[in-house]
Amino acid sequence: MGVGPRALLYRLGCLWHRREVDVWHDAAYRLPLSGLEFTGVDPRRADFAAWWLRESKAIAPAWWRKPRRASYADLARVHTPELLDSLSRPDTLAGIFGVDPTDVPVDEVMRTVRLATGATVEGARETLRTKRPALNLLGGFHHAGPGSAGGNCPVNDIAVAVAAVRADGFAGKVAVLDLDAHPPDGVARCLAFDPDHWIGSISGSDWGALDGVDETLLPAGTGDIGYMDALKPLLARMPKPDLAFVIAGGDVLAGDKLGRLALTLTGVRWRNVTVAAHLEGVPAVWLPGGGYSPSSWKALAGAGIALSTGWMQPIPDDYDPLAARFAGIARGLPTDVLSDTGELTETDLAEALGIRRPQQRLLLGFYSASGMEYALQRFGVLSQLGRLGYGHFRIEFDRAGLGERMRLLGEADGREHLLIETILERRRAAGHPVLYVHWLSLRNPRAKFSDRRPQLPGQDVPGLGLAREAGEMLALMALRLGLAGVVYRPAHFHTAYPGRHHFTFVDPSRQGRFEALVRDLPEGMGIADVTQEIDEGRVLLNGEPYAWEPDEMVFWLREPPEEPGEVAHECERCHFTFLPSTPGAKEPGANPPVLRP
Ligand SMILES: [Zn+2]
Repeated sequence: MGVGPRALLYRLGCLWHRREVDVWHDAAYRLPLSGLEFTGVDPRRADFAAWWLRESKAIAPAWWRKPRRASYADLARVHTPELLDSLSRPDTLAGIFGVDPTDVPVDEVMRTVRLATGATVEGARETLRTKRPALNLLGGFHHAGPGSAGGNCPVNDIAVAVAAVRADGFAGKVAVLDLDAHPPDGVARCLAFDPDHWIGSISGSDWGALDGVDETLLPAGTGDIGYMDALKPLLARMPKPDLAFVIAGGDVLAGDKLGRLALTLTGVRWRNVTVAAHLEGVPAVWLPGGGYSPSSWKALAGAGIALSTGWMQPIPDDYDPLAARFAGIARGLPTDVLSDTGELTETDLAEALGIRRPQQRLLLGFYSASGMEYALQRFGVLSQLGRLGYGHFRIEFDRAGLGERMRLLGEADGREHLLIETILERRRAAGHPVLYVHWLSLRNPRAKFSDRRPQLPGQDVPGLGLAREAGEMLALMALRLGLAGVVYRPAHFHTAYPGRHHFTFVDPSRQGRFEALVRDLPEGMGIADVTQEIDEGRVLLNGEPYAWEPDEMVFWLREPPEEPGEVAHECERCHFTFLPSTPGAKEPGANPPVLRP
């Protein structure tokens, strides 16, 4: 957690090397779509990259730029009224982002899209003026054509920016270097009538011939060397531009859900450093394009590092952007704001006089309801819930069975909804005091289940897409209360799997069986499908039907207790096999695939 010595060294290196780059980012770059992660997109990518670029000092405080929304007049220079009209409908945006229409708050989604597009426009103007490279942490929507949107691309920010600078009177040559793993079909259609442009691209998917594009198609699994062998001649063929757009796609990374080129993070950095050096002195706008793997934020942050420092130094493996960010916020939260101030309130008086039934005042003997609400605000949870359409938040505490319950309620559509519910207890596990999480539910009652958003066992409504944030907050609560860890009992495989990097089963042999199960999972199987396969008896352990064991898992916040090799021993002993399921019973890709450790 926090910043390790390697991150500190990184800072020094960055300070030593860096050159000026203007970087556009906004907290609203996070798309307010609670089901987005089911599509392989991490809506936190821009935030993670921004946090690392700040933290590492690769980008100085004065170089950050706040975007303004592109106007509809800007968009209308490129796009047809029919396309722009359609973007005011939830079903159109749902189709573009691969989510359910009930999950789409239209105005907020369009705010994100217009902010990103506005930044690409502003970045183009700024780089033409200053000759410094511009990096926009969201954009490169290269599949949108004049009259049609594409996957994750409602409008074409590059074409909108080109049209804007042309309208300003810029008459020079524009080059678009598309290094996303997919072809620039939309860019080619939008720029077809631009008087002076060149489009070059390296792709790992064959979408047929594209007019006006210098396209290099590489086979699946190309890797770093083959990619660089194709990049160098492409750069040599690129005419010297007066304004360049670089789509520094993160979906070229190995393990990407949609891209197939299988580059390493080192390879992606090498690519970016090479392109940045080639474009030295040329006004250029850099954009992220696609990226559908957990490392795609590192590819994007790496583009910023390539531009500012030209460095090949990797981002430290142990750096977790969310943990570092949240730990920093927690350090800035004073105890007296989170806990009871000791002042007598009207409610205290009413209770003392017997006019009002006594309420539980503090959660776990520490957090006041207003303190908890303040913390949720500071961690950005309430603003995200606001973008999902909820407001007028209220927190309640009471007792529930063995634990203490906290509920966060919020209003939408004229009534109050339960959004977050958790039941917590201070308890001992493996001889240490821990925060025991009996129950945690993150609910988005405005959204509906669908093929794109399958119902998982234990869910009554879709989730909020805030599970990682909730996990970090629970760990920070435990730390503040002086506890040694966080414990929960995953009732299913799909509730154990996402926490596997932090949590281990308390019982080492149970951990060994879990690791063996993860090792033996069939390639590409969805997380929810594994739960279903186990529930339906199609998973065998050493030849015998296997039933899920809902045992305690713990995230140790201090040194974990010693473990003399029992985990590895049990893992070696256990072999899981999956019986074939009924063909056609499941649509592939409806839930996120299990990722290899
Ligand atoms: Zn792509």
